[in-house]
Amino acid sequence: MDRYRVKPGSQVDLSQWDPNDSSAFEGQKKEGKRHLLLLNEQLEELQELLYAENRHKVLVVLQAMDTGGKDGVIRHVFEGVNPQGVKVAGFKVPTAEELSHDYLWRVHKWTPGRGEIVIFNRSHYEDVLVVRVHSLVPPEVWGKRYDHINAFERVLADEGTTILKFYLHIDLEEQKERLQARLDEPHKRWKFSLGDLDERKLWPRYMQAYEDVLSKTSTAWAPWYVVPANRKWYRNLVIATVLIETLRGLDMSYPQPENGLDDVVIV
Ligand code: AMP
Ligand code: MG
Repeated sequence: MDRYRVKPGSQVDLSQWDPNDSSAFEGQKKEGKRHLLLLNEQLEELQELLYAENRHKVLVVLQAMDTGGKDGVIRHVFEGVNPQGVKVAGFKVPTAEELSHDYLWRVHKWTPGRGEIVIFNRSHYEDVLVVRVHSLVPPEVWGKRYDHINAFERVLADEGTTILKFYLHIDLEEQKERLQARLDEPHKRWKFSLGDLDERKLWPRYMQAYEDVLSKTSTAWAPWYVVPANRKWYRNLVIATVLIETLRGLDMSYPQPENGLDDVVIV
């Protein structure tokens, strides 16, 4: 999955990243979907171990344009994990109270504790994405935030948090189809917001903002992955595989049981 990791310090040009790519699984949707079920089981076991060991903390950041598939990833990749050890934190338009603090305030309190996986559905990156594109604060203010964010994530990492960040990469045409599906299918309409059409018009500016995010904040301690996301099955496979490889790398083990359990007889 290395091919999708943004090397720290590299300059990302998203037009060079193919949202239709499915090369790691040879473009086979049916096979791919079956493989995901296997990965779901592996992830379930690893998460159980993470929870039991109660040592590591894992933060998964999901960012994407509207319809990019953040909700789908949460549903399909994390299917089967134990809700006791996994939390989802979604970040919407900040409340008045949130806005009266610094932009990391609302985020920090959701970061994972020991034994936990926390998934961010949107994140502090909105503060250099939507905030930048809509000039909600001046450039002198958002311009400093890349350094803040790298330092903030460094704090988390130094204190034992493993951080993975995924940008779900779709193209304008795919978004059109997905927005249309939201209009056409009655049970999807609740997800449609007229505001999404205004955001869509700002696509090039968002891509520019994403390119800066990916170029400036992919670090050794908190790497970004650009996930080809036009094909949902492939997107899920990539993320599940990265997660599993990362969790395996943590070298976890179940806690030592108490001494003397071998002779225990339960009457
Ligand atoms: P959704 O994820 O579709 O429910 O929409 C949430 C909305 O909240 C999106 O339009 C985001 O751009 C917006 N949002 C999230 N964080 C911020 C932020 N820090 N400032 C302004 N808008 C935000
Ligand atoms: Mg939305």
